[in-house]
Amino acid sequence: MKEQENSRGEQLRKALSYTKKNGYDRVDRAELEAMDAYCTGYKQFLDAGKTERECVDRTIALAEAAGFRAYQRGMALKPGDKVYRANRGKAVMLAVLGRRGLDQGVNIAAAHIDSPRLDLKQNPLYEADELAFLKTHYYGGLRKYQWVTIPLELHGVVALKSGQVVRVSVGNGEGDPLFTVDDLLPHLGAEQSRKPLGEAIPAESLNILVGSRPLADDEGSDRVKLSILELLNRKYGIVEEDFISAELSAVPAFRASDVGFDRSLIGAYGHDDRVCAYASLAAILQLNDPERTAVCMLADKEEIGSEGVTGMKSAAFDTFMEDLCQSQNVPLRACYERSFCLSADVTAAYDPNFAEVYEKRNSALVNCGMGLCKYTGARGKSGASDASAELVAYVRRVLDGAGVVWQMAELGKADQGGGGTVAVFMAERNIDTLDAGVPVLSMHAPFETVSKLDCYMTFKGVKAIYEAK
Ligand code: MN
Ligand code: MN
Repeated sequence: MKEQENSRGEQLRKALSYTKKNGYDRVDRAELEAMDAYCTGYKQFLDAGKTERECVDRTIALAEAAGFRAYQRGMALKPGDKVYRANRGKAVMLAVLGRRGLDQGVNIAAAHIDSPRLDLKQNPLYEADELAFLKTHYYGGLRKYQWVTIPLELHGVVALKSGQVVRVSVGNGEGDPLFTVDDLLPHLGAEQSRKPLGEAIPAESLNILVGSRPLADDEGSDRVKLSILELLNRKYGIVEEDFISAELSAVPAFRASDVGFDRSLIGAYGHDDRVCAYASLAAILQLNDPERTAVCMLADKEEIGSEGVTGMKSAAFDTFMEDLCQSQNVPLRACYERSFCLSADVTAAYDPNFAEVYEKRNSALVNCGMGLCKYTGARGKSGASDASAELVAYVRRVLDGAGVVWQMAELGKADQGGGGTVAVFMAERNIDTLDAGVPVLSMHAPFETVSKLDCYMTFKGVKAIYEAK
């Protein structure tokens, strides 16, 4: 009698209850090998792309190697064609033309390739007490205390009045020097230590140390600064005034590395959101002859609200899509209203060290796969796209059909904070949109952590979306 009851309970449990399972209990050996190979490619992508510009360059190189060509307005297109268009070197869009017409809509994955960092101000270089520094204005939502006393690289461009653009990349080459921001020693830090974490490091103290050696045989002022300017002039042909039209960013000098004795995790700068950008890119590069047209959008400026000409609010995306549509005499709005977009962006992984800010039942767990967010936002879903139940059901069907390990995710406890993605800007275009991405530990920190299994499952998930009929 007792045994029968148990077995009935077991049956009901199996039939009716929903329990999240660790992805490692759901994948086979072949899949784990594919995961490792995929993650090796991802780590290379991270090391090659420390800024959105570098990510665009890397994307174009990989795309051209996979048979994509730059799309020019008016170019004839046929099913199976692979095209891309870069937007001012900071965002890039790729498409693989489907067998069905664009009037049937497209499958989009939209991720972003900008990450939090320290941007140089337009008049950055100064000398104080015979040390040279660069002034910064931080980009994106970063916790300032995390950015002091870590090794930094300098990446970006200096645009000269002549029209010439000089690329700068210092720190990632063999034997390159690095940079850093100082912090106070504990011996003298008593007062600073009593301040709230968010106030202990003021933004205007995030000054990057770049030199200390004065110009020889000179009695004038600012000899260290002058010596740095001489070095920059020799190497890049620039003068101090050229900083005015430069975009230079200090980014963490960490290489993407396996984390853990079991190597199950990846630590790196910029997982948010290059982990979803790479998933969206790798998946479209493998696509051949899809039923519906697949579009990969790698956007800039998500970290500051998707503003600007290279952000997701920009008409550059609509222009690209309209150009594709015009090649088939399809109105853009007719394409949009039948399209689907996966807003591929990271979510917060539940961290047992800070359990109090999460609601575990609805948090993304490391190794439980791609995290789907029906809504993001803050204070009662403000700023969220909030996908419909029907749309979530559609994605469940597609992902389960492709054997993707996935989970539902919400950023943290209600009223604990919140965040946003590009989803709302896609939805405003009348495109059905759902947020999904890799759960991240220490999001926005100089060294973020993700699980290899979750990276790979997000790639599989995006690929399933591209291939969905
Ligand atoms: Mn993001
Ligand atoms: Mn972010």
